[in-house]
Amino acid sequence: MTGTVHIVGAGLGGLSAAVDLTDAGYKDIRFYEAAKAAGGRCRSFVDTVLNIVVDNGSHLLLSGNWAAIAYLTKIDGLKEMTQCEAEIPFADLNSGERWTLRPNSSRLPWWIFDQNRRVPGSKPADYLAPLGLLRAINQSRLVGDVMDTKSSLYERLWRPVMLAALNVEPAEADAQMAINLFKETFGGGGAACKPIIAHQGMSSAYIDPAIRYLEARGANFQYGRTLRGISYEGERATELDFGDEKIAVGAGDIVILAAPPVVARSYVPGLITPEKFKAIVNVHFKIAPPKGHPMYLGMINSISEWLFAYDDHMSVTISAADEWMQHDRLDLATKVWAEVSKVTGLPEELPPWQVNRERRATFAAVPSEAAKRPGPVTNYGNLFLAGDWTATGLPACMEGAVRSGNAASRAILERSAQGANAA
Ligand SMILES: Cc1cc2nc3c(=O)[nH]c(=O)nc-3n(C[C@H](O)[C@H](O)[C@H](O)COP(=O)(O)OP(=O)(O)OC[C@H]3O[C@@H](n4cnc5c(N)ncnc54)[C@H](O)[C@@H]3O)c2cc1C
Repeated sequence: MTGTVHIVGAGLGGLSAAVDLTDAGYKDIRFYEAAKAAGGRCRSFVDTVLNIVVDNGSHLLLSGNWAAIAYLTKIDGLKEMTQCEAEIPFADLNSGERWTLRPNSSRLPWWIFDQNRRVPGSKPADYLAPLGLLRAINQSRLVGDVMDTKSSLYERLWRPVMLAALNVEPAEADAQMAINLFKETFGGGGAACKPIIAHQGMSSAYIDPAIRYLEARGANFQYGRTLRGISYEGERATELDFGDEKIAVGAGDIVILAAPPVVARSYVPGLITPEKFKAIVNVHFKIAPPKGHPMYLGMINSISEWLFAYDDHMSVTISAADEWMQHDRLDLATKVWAEVSKVTGLPEELPPWQVNRERRATFAAVPSEAAKRPGPVTNYGNLFLAGDWTATGLPACMEGAVRSGNAASRAILERSAQGANAA
């Protein structure tokens, strides 16, 4: 545990690996982050137009996301979050209907027999549709091949839920990833489906406490440091190139590449990674939500998919949003606000707004990309990978990013133990 751990990328994957390695006894951990702040795709910032703190995109964690919760507990970030009941309110903008899905706590889903807990017009048998996914276990198949995607319940529940989690049109998504998702959420009953929201912004819960935790234990963070190359000798990484400075990787040092797949692919010879991505668009409105408005609301038959309510603003998320990337921003904000005004009863006049577009929000959760996800170990003995795009089995998400860090640290500790045994 004496060498330096060089971590490239201070997103959740890198931070999670660092927390584990710190706890395992590594004392010299150094972060090199290209941006001016840590957090990557899970970050808050002061928006200069709205002059309030917003997230790059609203993020939802579920109580079944055990690795992310363990990470948050360790860094003391959970106290910055609100855990909601296992309830998902929905509004259908075509029919005007409103309902709230209320799974019961245990794994035995008796709630599907209670019409006050399920989607209007649905029958208990409709809720068995996800079981069709089991036909795709360990196979490279599309959700649309094994699950009924024509039913009304699919449109009113399974599609919006899977679209948000997979960030790709669910019928085209990788069925195995969908199975893993269901297993850890709906499969765990209501107890695993309680949304946990960072109501004061993502950074206040996931990032700032991690930095405090790590800095208190000696870690060093350098920002504005963009990796531009890695040199190798035999089966070891020997130098990190940051353009203005080259940093030697000492004999006992370790490198964790926790940057996006395009960076890893560019600098790790022979590495195969996902190459296709999907966008997410968030539209923020600087307006207080009406009193009693739910913290999150699923919206059906609308451009808006999920509406999040914070103290001083409301944010709409649109997943798999590639078609909106080039769209006129004012027009999009106007269209989305018309929908929000309809479901909230807020005035029709457009409040101050901001459109945040993340072109490469997640890798595309389709079979061809799933097959390209590498594990944490590379062909180089001292070089490891972390990030939501590595082989976690989950789609790109915070739980996956944290698990990727766990997996990288486990691989490092195993290798270190093997080295010690050999010596
Ligand atoms: C809009 C949006 C909404 C989302 N909503 C949800 C949600 O509701 N629930 C959920 O679970 N997940 C959600 N996600 C996904 C979640 O944010 C990610 O899975 C997670 O943050 C990924 O963490 P990571 O560490 O793998 O990658 P990143 O956060 O991308 O971290 C990689 C880091 O590497 C840095 N970097 C890049 N290139 C270099 C370089 N050359 N040198 C040095 N550093 C470099 C980057 O700046 C970044 O900080 C959402 C993502 C987006 C974009």
